[in-house]
Amino acid sequence: MDLLISGGRLVSGGRADVLVDGGRILAVGLFPGARADEVIDAAGLIVAPGLVDSHRHVGQAPLRGIGADMTLTDYITTVLGRLLPAYEPEDAHHATLLGAAEALDAGITTVLDFCNVTRTPEHTDAVLAAYRTAGIRAVVGHNNPADAADVRRMAGLRGRITGALAINGPGFGDWAGTVREIELGRELGLLVTMHAGGGPGSPLRRLYDEGLLGPHLHMVHVNGLSGEEAKLLAETGTGVTVTPIVEATMGHGVSAYSTFAAAGGRAGLGVDVTVNAPADLFEALRDTLRSHRAATGTMHPAAGILAAATSDSAAAIGLADRIGTISPGRRADLILLDGLAHLPDGPGLASAVVTVLGPRDVHTVVVDGRILKRDGELVHLDPHRLRQAGSGPPTR
Ligand SMILES: [Zn+2]
Repeated sequence: MDLLISGGRLVSGGRADVLVDGGRILAVGLFPGARADEVIDAAGLIVAPGLVDSHRHVGQAPLRGIGADMTLTDYITTVLGRLLPAYEPEDAHHATLLGAAEALDAGITTVLDFCNVTRTPEHTDAVLAAYRTAGIRAVVGHNNPADAADVRRMAGLRGRITGALAINGPGFGDWAGTVREIELGRELGLLVTMHAGGGPGSPLRRLYDEGLLGPHLHMVHVNGLSGEEAKLLAETGTGVTVTPIVEATMGHGVSAYSTFAAAGGRAGLGVDVTVNAPADLFEALRDTLRSHRAATGTMHPAAGILAAATSDSAAAIGLADRIGTISPGRRADLILLDGLAHLPDGPGLASAVVTVLGPRDVHTVVVDGRILKRDGELVHLDPHRLRQAGSGPPTR
């Protein structure tokens, strides 16, 4: 046995030990006398699934905070048009390492990286090397579909680091090109992820009519989503992720979470960019709870929102059978949360996690059975030092 997490309380309620071997969860229950190579005493801590950030531009980490007042047009011109294209492979490596460190520190164990910096195969190599070092689970969304050979090798990735195809969508290119890119992803068995709006001008209806929606596709934002479009997405099992903090800050509009939920869909949550949003998912959880209560006019239980950053995010990016819950057979991606030892067992624990905790309360982070944060400190990465060390790309 590799790892025993002993005496914690599951976020779903109840005391349990978690046995981990070979990077996966072997058993969850009470196992007095169990032994392992490593034992974490989780007394007083909450054991939760690692958070899943299903939409993040990880390589923008060095640009943190530069876009507080940027409109989408400013962002496209400055960040996408000028700053990211200036990245050399070593910048892409450093930026990815920094972004991954910030995510892990906040309890995010999996990230779908809409990776704007895969401009050349050397950049892609640099990004993949950073993920090998970082230890986080990553779905690397290659964003240069014109280089089909480089995209093709993403389809060969297995294990903790896997590939996806990140496309710009019809809002940024022609329809035929978008269809070709979706088909390239389908042919290679890669999830295709793209930004899109809902409502007037949205590509969703046309994607549906042309038979292109489905679980192989992952739509991000969809602000303005109509009830009818939400049904098309839910009916076809298309993945949906909302990033409410960035969407509100940049003026994209109200989160589509509740409209999608009303159609039976379950959206995942993403940080998106740290140019104008914090690096953690706790704020997105809280925002989603508040907007969902307002949209439904109910006291929707706070505990019910936690799935948006765990199992629903995992499902939105095609990882439902590997991560997102603490169950035997799943990969051992877990976090231990501090600060709620005084609460009684029950659904109140998950509700409290959603409403009052933050990155500082992330005590331990385990990915694939490996401990990456321990007693509140990352084990092998130091975001502060990484930030200082970055010769980095220009930020102006
Ligand atoms: Zn985005």
